[in-house]
Amino acid sequence: MATLKPVRGTQDVLPAENRQLRYVESVAFGVAQIYGYGEISTPIFEFTDVFARTLGDTSDIVTKEMYSFEDRGGEGITLRPEGTAGVARAVMSGGLQQDLPLKLFYRGPMFRYERPQKGRRRQFGQVGVELIGVAGPLADIEVIALGHQFLDRLGVGAQVTLELNSLGDTQSRAAYRDKLVDYLQGFEDQLSDDSRERLTRNPLRILDSKNEGDRKIIGGAPVLSDCLNDESRDFFDAVKAGLEKLGIAFEINSRLVRGLDYYCHTAFEFTTNDLGAQGTVLAGGRYDGLFEQMGGRETPGIGWAAGVERLALLTGETVAAPRPVAVVPVGNEAEAAALDLTQELRRAGVAVDLGYSGNMKKRMKRAGNLDARFAVLLGQDELARGAATIRDMDSGEQSEVSLSQVAEHLRQSGA
Ligand code: ATP
Ligand code: MG
Repeated sequence: MATLKPVRGTQDVLPAENRQLRYVESVAFGVAQIYGYGEISTPIFEFTDVFARTLGDTSDIVTKEMYSFEDRGGEGITLRPEGTAGVARAVMSGGLQQDLPLKLFYRGPMFRYERPQKGRRRQFGQVGVELIGVAGPLADIEVIALGHQFLDRLGVGAQVTLELNSLGDTQSRAAYRDKLVDYLQGFEDQLSDDSRERLTRNPLRILDSKNEGDRKIIGGAPVLSDCLNDESRDFFDAVKAGLEKLGIAFEINSRLVRGLDYYCHTAFEFTTNDLGAQGTVLAGGRYDGLFEQMGGRETPGIGWAAGVERLALLTGETVAAPRPVAVVPVGNEAEAAALDLTQELRRAGVAVDLGYSGNMKKRMKRAGNLDARFAVLLGQDELARGAATIRDMDSGEQSEVSLSQVAEHLRQSGA
């Protein structure tokens, strides 16, 4: 075998870390349910077209980050780099546009060929929501409020800032595009190669560049908000007023654009200073152009996606693992009785650890390492009386209980 290492940018997730990741996912799902969002699962790979068409052929994701391959049947396949395109595809292929509005939650792995660093992996988890079929600003307000409540419930509300911008409608963006290109052409020879190429193909994306030199030039660029037409401005005002009414604080960031081409009107990100360079934990926006771009009927939509690993780093909270009961046979003859009792307790739903071997001292040490709540000691003398000793591992208190009462006794003690 060439190597036993996982592929660069991927990782084996051990139980302790999985408890953190599951915690983030379950809080997200819980809050999504409060807002009436049901869970959708789409395949983790799709025809390459699903992403190539929707993400636009100048986006980072399509030009540099996709895991694409031809399968044995000669189909062009891509591991999903994000969730929205697959959900939109599912809505169209499943005829779900009959049932608008749709409120959908998703979770699962995404794949992008990126340079791995803290908070940036080639396989990473996202949770996200999509609200499809609502054209008005109430949708934007609800979706942002959902994200806000999710981060609050995670306990990271005080560590994040909501940044907000409007990309306006098609007309506003076209007006801005002209102004921006005018400005950037003055710096054409100083832009990075990527950005220079985008100057003609998709200049708005240059605002998203992470190149240092580009960022300096962008600092002086005209801002989109000056180009919003009345309709777009009204829309943005309504979103802002709604958030203010709900007491959701935000900062306007007029340079905030979404990385993908189909976004319009509201764009937002929740960012933090506590994760170094990878500061965006939740990002979203309105994508009214998406369905048409995929060859479907015009359908408005808005959603967000959040990085599960980044949020796990931020909260440190975990799904609690139950503290087990350790069953400890004292002496060889007690082993059989220990196996019986263990099985009885597990059938009753009690989490039990039965060390596989070793003397009492070794097993008690293991019980301590596992943070066992109780130990059930099965000694020769007690067994002869049909009893066992239950030790409370926190207080050290011990009591002898008849074998038939052990399960009940533990249950009453909260095991
Ligand atoms: P970035 O600017 O950091 O590359 P992005 O704009 O590509 O982010 P989105 O496509 O908006 O990110 O994805 C939403 C969220 O998913 C991000 O805010 C981040 O929390 C998470 N995310 C994106 N890419 C990665 C990655 N490679 N590893 C871990 N998390 C990621
Ligand atoms: Mg990215």
